[in-house]
Amino acid sequence: MHNFAIPRPLPFASLVTITLGLVLCFRAGAATLDDFGHQNMKVNGNPAIGARPTLVILLDLANSGSFAHNNAYYDNLVFNPFNTTSAGLRSVNGFMLVNSHARFSLTRVGPGLIGPLQLPADQRARALTNDLMRAGFAITAAVNSGVSFAPYDNDGDGRITADEALVLIFDNVNQNDSGASRWANPNGMGADFTPAGSPVSISMSVGLMTQRVSFATLCHEMSHVLGTKDLYGLWNVTCHSFEYTVMSCTISGADDMFSYGLDAWHKLQLGWVEPRIRSLTSGGVETVPAAQSTAATDAPIILYDPARGTSEFFIVEYRTSTSPWGAGYEDDVPSNGLAIWHIVHDANKKLIELTNVGQSVWLEGQPNLQRGGDTNMLWTSGNTTPFLTWMDGTVTPTRITVRPFNTGDGSISFEWLTPSDTWVDFNYAGFPLFPENGTVALPFNTVVEGVAFASHGGTLHLKPGTSAERPTITKRLLLVAESGPVTIGQ
Ligand SMILES: [Zn+2]
Repeated sequence: MHNFAIPRPLPFASLVTITLGLVLCFRAGAATLDDFGHQNMKVNGNPAIGARPTLVILLDLANSGSFAHNNAYYDNLVFNPFNTTSAGLRSVNGFMLVNSHARFSLTRVGPGLIGPLQLPADQRARALTNDLMRAGFAITAAVNSGVSFAPYDNDGDGRITADEALVLIFDNVNQNDSGASRWANPNGMGADFTPAGSPVSISMSVGLMTQRVSFATLCHEMSHVLGTKDLYGLWNVTCHSFEYTVMSCTISGADDMFSYGLDAWHKLQLGWVEPRIRSLTSGGVETVPAAQSTAATDAPIILYDPARGTSEFFIVEYRTSTSPWGAGYEDDVPSNGLAIWHIVHDANKKLIELTNVGQSVWLEGQPNLQRGGDTNMLWTSGNTTPFLTWMDGTVTPTRITVRPFNTGDGSISFEWLTPSDTWVDFNYAGFPLFPENGTVALPFNTVVEGVAFASHGGTLHLKPGTSAERPTITKRLLLVAESGPVTIGQ
């Protein structure tokens, strides 16, 4: 914005100039969270906010009568926010509570957990090879066993959708870590179905898990049911942002309890955070609380260029495995520091699947702002990025520098440095006789004006002269005396 003239209320200013000034101010100041896709990720028109009734079904698909763990294990793993059965605090409910900043949690459909349930032989045979049928048969078996979905039909339309109730199915066929989110239908179709004896139909995707699913896969698939997108890049080829978002690759070993949270883009889309919106071109400095700070719902920062628009931008957040609030489901992020997410949205503020690349939401890591799956994806203490670059290759004049911090700090500070040139001439008559806009031709005539206008990381060019001002300067500015002595504060 520093190249734009900000018209002052000159007595002789033309109407045209004033109108132009208003337009520029509007463009620079009016971007809202909606413009960046806040709470854009919904199921059946409703966001993942509030308490969501959830049913866990243990499906004895192996027909063996036994699971790798007892019922209490699965009940705690899903519902109990204080569950420490395996490693640290681990439950889907706790994961959702922390990542949503206490805006989303799980309650129980009926008893919450039912099973192990067995299927008739013909259904079991089909369920073994068809995920949609497996989900449909499992829900049908749960209804046969007495579970009623009718009380959860919030909108009274006779259909239970995933914004009204969640279903999570564990089966006992193998000992691997695996999971999926699939539409539920006993005929294998992408349509509603009504279990015999149920007054309401079922119209939803559900989570399908193995009996020894890893914690990250479990949270990944449950997040999908809320509308989240894969961010690993190319399926079965790349693992972008690996272990920096639960929506990257997660498959690991049986019962693996590694934990890392959702990325700031998903939290923005889910309506779980309200990032601070800042102009890339003005430069600046901000402090960012750790992502797991429940109170810090405005912790992430959106950096965008008002002249370029809101469809491409950066979101930065502080990710750390240790904080004054504990690990907070970030126990296994591979490094600590500033995460720089690069976002490109389509016209509906959704991500784009880029051919041979992957999703248009990715992490840019040390040292080259590279996209990838290496562990160097956070910007650590004291480091500075190269110039941020838009997806079309346009290089911005802006770098990000992370101020020194210590492991476990509750927040970190960073600066985004954007060079610009602002001129000050104490001998210039200026307002109200002549316009001032900080250029060589129309300089400001006080340091205060120049500092206020300059970008963080910019240069203030001072023409020879004297000013009695004693300004407090909190921006990172280079002050240059141009072609002669400059005296300030005397
Ligand atoms: Zn996925």
